[in-house]
Amino acid sequence: MSTTRTKSKSATTNGQRSQTYRNGGRSGGSAGTGAVLSGSDVLADVGLPDDPANLYTQTVSTMLHAAEVMNLPHYLQLILAQPKNEIMVHFPVRMDNGSFLLVKGYRVQHNNALGPFKGGLRFHPDVHLDDVKSLAFLMTMKCSLVGVPYGGGKGGIKIDPRKHTKTEMERIVRRFTAAIAHNIGPDYDIPAPDVGSNSQHMAWIADTYSFLSEIGGDNPSAVITGKPVEYGGSLGREKATGQGVVDTLIEMLPELKLRPERCTFSVLGYGNVGSWSGKIFQDKGAKMTAVADHTGFIINEKGIDAKDLAEYVSQKGGVAGYPKASKCSKEDFYRTKVDVFIPAALEQMIQEPEAEMLNCKVVAEGANAPTTPAGEHVLQARGIEVLPAILCNAGGVTVSYFEWVQNKSFQAWDLAKVDRELNKHMVQAAGRTREARKKYSCDLRTASYIAALERLKQAYEVRGIFP
Ligand code: NAD
Repeated sequence: MSTTRTKSKSATTNGQRSQTYRNGGRSGGSAGTGAVLSGSDVLADVGLPDDPANLYTQTVSTMLHAAEVMNLPHYLQLILAQPKNEIMVHFPVRMDNGSFLLVKGYRVQHNNALGPFKGGLRFHPDVHLDDVKSLAFLMTMKCSLVGVPYGGGKGGIKIDPRKHTKTEMERIVRRFTAAIAHNIGPDYDIPAPDVGSNSQHMAWIADTYSFLSEIGGDNPSAVITGKPVEYGGSLGREKATGQGVVDTLIEMLPELKLRPERCTFSVLGYGNVGSWSGKIFQDKGAKMTAVADHTGFIINEKGIDAKDLAEYVSQKGGVAGYPKASKCSKEDFYRTKVDVFIPAALEQMIQEPEAEMLNCKVVAEGANAPTTPAGEHVLQARGIEVLPAILCNAGGVTVSYFEWVQNKSFQAWDLAKVDRELNKHMVQAAGRTREARKKYSCDLRTASYIAALERLKQAYEVRGIFP
C-alpha cells in the first residue's frame, strides 16, 4: 500500500550513507533538496556530507542555522556538530529453531555537558547509524530546552520486533544489554523506549544490567527508564509524550487564536505518542477526524473516538479496517481540513508534497524530525505554524527524568505530582521558546534551538574545555 516507507541509501564521500525516506511511492531522492543548508562551513570542518537529503545533515544544519542567528561561538558549533561517541556492536543470538542470527546494535552518545547521556532505543529493521546520530543529537537539544539535567544519546537494534517470538526478543534484548553494558550506567548513560521497544524490553535491560553490575549503594535499575510500574517505572511515563504534546498545544494555541475545545485534528502514527496525544487532546474537547499508520488511512468527519481506536489498534495491530471510520487515500488524509495535524510516526514523513497537501493551521510534532527542511519551507510559505519536536515531544524524557529521580531516591510519586511537574517543565520550555522568538524575530523551531543552545553555551562557558 502507498504508506510503505522505504529508505534509500547511497554512499557519500566520507563513507557515511545518505538516506531518503520515500512515502507513497514518490520517486527520486528529493527529501529536503528544496532548502538551502545552513552552516555548510561547519559541516565541511567536521567532515559531514553537504547532502540536503541526509537526515543527520538536515538535523545538524537546523541547529547551525539557529547558531548563526544567535551568534553561537564557532568552537561550540563544531563540538555539537558531531556526537562524542558512536558505538556499534554485533552479537549472535540463538533463534527458537536452533539457528543463529547475527544482530547489529547501536548506541550513540551525542553530548553530556549538562548531565548523563539520555535517550531511547529503537527496534526497527531500517535503523541506521545516521538515524541514531540524529535522534541522539535531538535529545541533547530537547533535554537542554526542557530543563532536565541530561545530555543526549540514542540507540537501536536493527531487527523487526514483530517478526520475533517473545523468547527470541528476550535473548536479543539481554544480549544487546550485555554488549553495551560497559558503555551505559545510571550516572553515565540512561536509555529508554522508542519506536518498536516497550516497557517489557526495558525490564529485561534493567534486570540484565543489575545482574552484570556490582551491587553498590546505587539502584542499578536506574540505568534505564520507561520500565513497568511494577519494577521501578513511574506512573504517567507511558502517556508522558502525548501528555507533553497536549500541554504544549494548550500553551501555544491561544496565541494562534485557537481554542482546544473547538479544534479538529488528525494524527499520523497511532502508536504510543499518536494514541496518547489523541486520547488526551480529545479529553480537552478536541475532535479527531483522520488517522493514518503503517496499515492505512481512515477518516470520519463526524469524529473518531480516540480511546476506541486505541483499543482496536492494540488488538488488530493497526488502524486498517476500523469499522467506525472510512478508508481513504493518502491524499485525502493529508487534505483533510483540520486545525491541528500531529505527526507521530517516523522521521522525514512531511516532505514537500505532504506539506503542500496539508490543510491545517498548526503542525504539532509528536515524532522526532518528522518535517524535512524543504517540507518546513513549504509550511512556512503557506502560513502553517510548526510546534517543533524538541519542545512538543519533550514530555517523554521529562517523565523519564522523574522516574530516574524516583529510582535514585527510592521514592514513588503519585500521578498528580508527575502530571503537575511535567506541566511545569513544558510551560517553562514553551516560555523560553517564545522569548527567543521575540528576541530574535525568528520561527519557533529556530527559537527552540536557540533556547536550548543558550543553556549549553552557559554550561560550556563555566566548565571550559579540558585540559
Ligand atoms: P510506536 O512504535 O509506538 O508507534 C509508531 C507509529 O508509527 C505506529 O503507529 C506505526 O504504525 C506508525 N508508522 C510506522 N511507519 C509508518 C508509515 N510508513 N506510515 C505511517 N505510519 C507509520 O512509536 P512511538 O513511541 O509512538 O514513537 C513515534 C515517534 O515519536 C518517533 O519519532 C519517536 O522517536 C518519537 N518519540 C517517542 C517518544 C516516546 O516516549 N515513545 C518520545 C519522544 C519522541
